[in-house]
Amino acid sequence: MIKKQRTIPLRVHILRAMKRRVRPNHEKYEDLLMELGIKEAGIYGEQALDYYLKLLPETDTTHFIFHDLRLPYRDTHFQIDTLIIFSNFCLLLEVKYVRGTIYFDPKNNQLIQEVEDKPLKALQDPILQVSNQCYKLTSWLKHKNLPIVPCEKLVVLTNPKVIVKVLSSPSIVEKHVIKSPALSEKVIPLHKKNPTQFFDKKTLNRICRLLIKDHTPLRSSPIEQYKVITSDILTGVLCPNCPHHVVMKRIHGKWRCPNCLLLSHDAHIEALRDYALLISSEITMEELRRFLRIDNNYIIRRLLKNMKITGTGNTKSRTYNLTPLLTKT
Ligand SMILES: [Zn+2]
Repeated sequence: MIKKQRTIPLRVHILRAMKRRVRPNHEKYEDLLMELGIKEAGIYGEQALDYYLKLLPETDTTHFIFHDLRLPYRDTHFQIDTLIIFSNFCLLLEVKYVRGTIYFDPKNNQLIQEVEDKPLKALQDPILQVSNQCYKLTSWLKHKNLPIVPCEKLVVLTNPKVIVKVLSSPSIVEKHVIKSPALSEKVIPLHKKNPTQFFDKKTLNRICRLLIKDHTPLRSSPIEQYKVITSDILTGVLCPNCPHHVVMKRIHGKWRCPNCLLLSHDAHIEALRDYALLISSEITMEELRRFLRIDNNYIIRRLLKNMKITGTGNTKSRTYNLTPLLTKT
């Protein structure tokens, strides 16, 4: 049973909005595109695992699945891609979507990636990463006065085309690295290895509750990190159909793209969501005029009303709250 669904992190929503809105000649534009690319591949890889999670063997007790957990550890936090709690052990999955040929080198705590004719790239050792997460999860269980259960770990490679090679400690790689179709097959012996039931039904429910309660989403802002200021952010209602920044024009109550001629009734919603993600969740009438490139307050008020966006304050300093648009991302 899935106890915590995977959600697209706020940072990814912000990066996607930055891709649309930050002027492409901004000195950090390529860097933010690169980060977004890595994050999108991660999301794709985790989604690709879902099918195999459904095939996990049935046991006497239900197992609980948690995606994207971020839990406190001392003064910091640690992240787990997927955690599966069985009554007899915990299983941590470090999910990787990587391309090309990868060389595992646990002895030197590294993973080397080779993609076509590009220079070799050193990546973080995922076996070490998931081992650290196991250690921190055990410490978390101790801290919560929960039974200390065996912690098993696997690195799951979700790209079927990736070629795996091993440079050192082959037995460690064989034990802890799999491709997603092997998940079920790998879990069966783990049940045999850990026959003792540590968690009764009540404790299992308690763990699930505490994991959800302690989960702390990351709230870092890529806007500050990439030094993007308001004047770097393009205004206007963008065409959802055109790959590059094409600003639509409002004609006869609709938005029209001058490039592909697409007509839209609601393209302004995405624009205001971008504003909320990149600038502020509150907006004034003056800012609405600037950002939507409409100079008619009456039209703006009607659009806001249709979106059920309400204002506070007197007429001159009235601000509108865009938060409801963010919940739909
Ligand atoms: Zn267009």
